[in-house]
Amino acid sequence: MTHLEKLKSVLGGANPDAVIISSGINQRYISGFPFTDGYLLVTRGKSYLVTDFRYEEAARAGADPGLEVSAPQHGMLDFIAERIFADECRSVAFEEEALPYAAYEKFRAALPGVELVPVASAILWGLREIKDDNELKNIAAAQDIADAAFEHILKFIKPDMTEREVALELEFFMRGQGAEAMAFETIAVSGSASSMPHGVPRDRKLERGFLTMDFGAKVNGYCSDMTRTVVLGSANADMKRLYNTVLSAQLAALEVIREGAGLSEVDLTARGIIDRAGYEGCFGHKLGHGVGLFIHENPRLSPTAPEDARLVSGQVVTVEPGIYIAGKYGCRIEDLVCVTKDGLINLTHSPKELIELF
Ligand code: ZN
Ligand code: ZN
Repeated sequence: MTHLEKLKSVLGGANPDAVIISSGINQRYISGFPFTDGYLLVTRGKSYLVTDFRYEEAARAGADPGLEVSAPQHGMLDFIAERIFADECRSVAFEEEALPYAAYEKFRAALPGVELVPVASAILWGLREIKDDNELKNIAAAQDIADAAFEHILKFIKPDMTEREVALELEFFMRGQGAEAMAFETIAVSGSASSMPHGVPRDRKLERGFLTMDFGAKVNGYCSDMTRTVVLGSANADMKRLYNTVLSAQLAALEVIREGAGLSEVDLTARGIIDRAGYEGCFGHKLGHGVGLFIHENPRLSPTAPEDARLVSGQVVTVEPGIYIAGKYGCRIEDLVCVTKDGLINLTHSPKELIELF
């Protein structure tokens, strides 16, 4: 089933009759075509990609053929309103997280008697959770690039480099390997800065101690995400204990992941190991998140997820426990995995045992 067919199949009944899609990510998800100016209108009958002449030709060639491409002379909004009335849609969903208020007001004025329902973001988040084979292929390709970058950076890092130089080299290498963009801002933080889970790379020489690198590439719009922490110099006993606790927590969580496992159960498996080792309160974020066209998608592996929220085959999630000791140092290890019926496919292939550089 195409993504367009998936969306059509949930329309009607208790759901709205049609959906207006205004965000670039969801437009790309449904149409397979990236464009930045226009809308998709999906109804149970006909569906439309509405844009201006700059995108018209490329859209006809690249978008899902189930979408009628239109570049109306008299304005996109009027065209959409005409189609909604012609198709007798009574309720129309809009993206409650992505439609600017001014645009909402214009639709409101153009659609008297039509109920505008703020549920399209939620519907699309739901559809995007389960990845099809093509999406998995793109995510795996993006992760392969990140794995290659990690192998490369281990040989590249020298003691007198700055954190920015390490981050830049990761990005330069990934672009060279075919990444169309970074999945998010690359993190490379060393020494005392490694205690900040999302620290920004500094323009100063690498500190000895932990170096945490969190990075990912984008392929055909799809993201990858991985973290490795290495030691610059040699690790003392406390650092080894901390590192191995994070690793044990990560391996234990990977062990319980499969279709049907509870989202909170997976998080608490890792969190319990960290807490029992005496690091209670030092793992201040969730265990993981879904990854797709966005770097942070559903599901969330969280200690507070509802008990009945469970993993489903085809979801792609990160597993990224960490221990952060403020003012001292921190460590995180993150893999990207695809949930299957009886376990997972780990898309990350980089080594995880403690690596000491120079
Ligand atoms: Zn990450
Ligand atoms: Zn992540």
